[in-house]
Amino acid sequence: MKQHNFNAGPSILPQVTIEETAKAVINFNNTGLSILEISHRAKYFQPVVDEAEALFKELLESPDGYKTIFLGGGASLQFCMMPYNFLKTKAAYLNTGTWANKAMKEAKNFGEVVEVASSKDKNYSYIPKDYTIPTDADYFHITTNNTIFGTEIRKELDSPVMMIADMSSDIFSRPLDVSKYAAIYGGAQKNLAPAGLTFAIVKEDLLGQAPRVVPTMLDYRTHTENGSMFNTPPVLPIFSALQTLRWLKEMGGLKVMEQRNIEKATMLYDAIDSSKMFVGTAAAEDRSLMNICFVMKEEYKELESEFAKFATENGMVGIKGHRSVG
Ligand SMILES: *Cc1c(COP(=O)(O)O)cnc(C)c1O
Repeated sequence: MKQHNFNAGPSILPQVTIEETAKAVINFNNTGLSILEISHRAKYFQPVVDEAEALFKELLESPDGYKTIFLGGGASLQFCMMPYNFLKTKAAYLNTGTWANKAMKEAKNFGEVVEVASSKDKNYSYIPKDYTIPTDADYFHITTNNTIFGTEIRKELDSPVMMIADMSSDIFSRPLDVSKYAAIYGGAQKNLAPAGLTFAIVKEDLLGQAPRVVPTMLDYRTHTENGSMFNTPPVLPIFSALQTLRWLKEMGGLKVMEQRNIEKATMLYDAIDSSKMFVGTAAAEDRSLMNICFVMKEEYKELESEFAKFATENGMVGIKGHRSVG
């Protein structure tokens, strides 16, 4: 029986993505070859990359001047690759949790890092609101969805400088104003494809300005100038991502997805809020539509393992959450 997968990532994918990928593993587009063995240079794979890139642009309504590239290394490599390319002297970071901390740690190797605000004081259960972004920062970095803590920045922020956003776990969940960003990046295994693929949307005219030598593979221009084909890209996850992108378009695009996400999350939050056993861990106004974190109330704590067992027996996988929240 198909299980309900609540894991933050790798996470549930549209059934059509899984089925089309399975077919392509056996016989890719009637070529008589498996997608596992075709050359990325083969003329039949280029259209997959081209269509995936075009759908990124179409779904996000990206303005001209931005390029989407497909890479390896995960969002974690982007934590270093972003400052490598975009940090000249100073960057501002909003500290909303584990991923933001990891991003800041890497950026410190390339210049001054200003933590404009942090919600560490309350175990990252909210998104800081009142802070000042230095106007001389090269960029302002945010983590739009915090998988572990169940918080999300759902409205576009106002920033005096271009933003860079880690959108690993909420990309394509709502419409965006891409023009506010120098770059948007993420691992694809949360919302798009199986693990092994990383996407980066970069503003082309901001590239090549870093006051340092950037290794070839870590320079975004290497990938923008070669259409993500400088070296062998993650062929199978790109194919799967394309199936999800087509599905998103068929569903009606990101406004429709946002509405669906609001409806689904509201159902679950309402159930949690009206339950006598459970309590949500994130501040109500900053609750994520992607990762809904809840624990058992103090007086029911001893039932936690029994509840986890009950959920598993009823086809729910990944209910347990991260050890730092519960
Ligand atoms: C999962 C996640 C990451 C880590 O991604 P990797 O691709 O495993 O490196 C980084 N940032 C956010 C917001 C995430 O949700």
